[in-house]
Formats: sequence, C-alpha cells, structure tokens
Amino acid sequence: MVRTASRPTDAQLERACEALRGRGLPVTAQRRALLAAFLQRTDHPTVDALHADVSRALPGVNRATVYRTLETLVELGLAGRVAQHAAACRYDPCVERHHHLLCERCGAVQDVFSAELDALRVPQPAAGFVAREFSVLIAGLCGACASSRSPARTPRGAKAQRHGACAPRGAKAH
Ligand SMILES: [Zn+2]
Ligand SMILES: [Zn+2]
Repeated sequence: MVRTASRPTDAQLERACEALRGRGLPVTAQRRALLAAFLQRTDHPTVDALHADVSRALPGVNRATVYRTLETLVELGLAGRVAQHAAACRYDPCVERHHHLLCERCGAVQDVFSAELDALRVPQPAAGFVAREFSVLIAGLCGACASSRSPARTPRGAKAQRHGACAPRGAKAH
C-alpha cells in the first residue's frame, strides 16, 4: 500500500518561483535556494532544518524569511504542513493527496499513498462542523528503529503518546 513519491523538482521549482512572484514576493537568491532545498527533501523538514540547509549555501539568511516563504507556499497550495504531536511543525513539498508514518523514536516522517486511507469514512464531526478533508498520521517505529535494540528515547517534558493505527488526525492542508 506504500509507494514512493516521484517529484519533478525542476518543474515544481519554476512553478513555486512564479507563484511567489505572483504574490509580490521577489525570488531572491535566498528564496530560490530555500525553494530548491525544500523541494529536494522528502523528509518533511522543519523551519529550522531548512534554515540550516540554506544557511550553509548562503550564510546570513533570516529564519523569519524561511518561515514566511514556507507559509506563503502553504497558502498558495504548493506545500503542506504535516500534523505532528510533540514535535515542531514540518513542511511537505508534496501536495498530492497522501498520509504519513511518524516514527516516535527518531521522529522520521514518511509519506503513505493509499487509496484505502483516502477512502476512509470519517465519523460525523461535532454538530455544525463542516469537514473538508482529513489525513491520517500513523505513529509507530520506522524499520531502522524497530530493528534496533536500543531502548526508546522518551522526549523530555513530553508525555509519551500512543496512537492506534489509522487514527484520523483531523483536517490539514493536503
Ligand atoms: Zn525511527
Ligand atoms: Zn508528506
């Protein structure tokens, strides 16, 4: 049920640049480097991870620029946010309908493309709430962590949470 996304990053890069220009955001060297770094990544990076990527190439990039650019991409429908518990917001260059696997030990997030999950019947939400879409976050252990024998790392200050498989995690921008 899992397939890997193929990402035409060049076409996506041009599309993203054009969309930002359309929003009145000039595509500076910094923004271009950020978009290129973002679109290459399949690991659902945080703002900080992308800021570190771009800073390596172009020192002096403002973290706020990274954040604002990502949020603009989300508004334009060119990126998504991944619903996460006990972790920072992560961004996703893949806006095709999909779901996520979250490793509770190492924090890795992987894409899941599944017609079965897309077709889940969502229970009737609270009265008056109009559901638009949903995505599924399946929490557990990635292959590497499941096969390693070291004890699970418990994030300090965060209560360990357990989730059953296939629990709908609420609406998100996918
Ligand atoms: Zn893991
Ligand atoms: Zn994803």
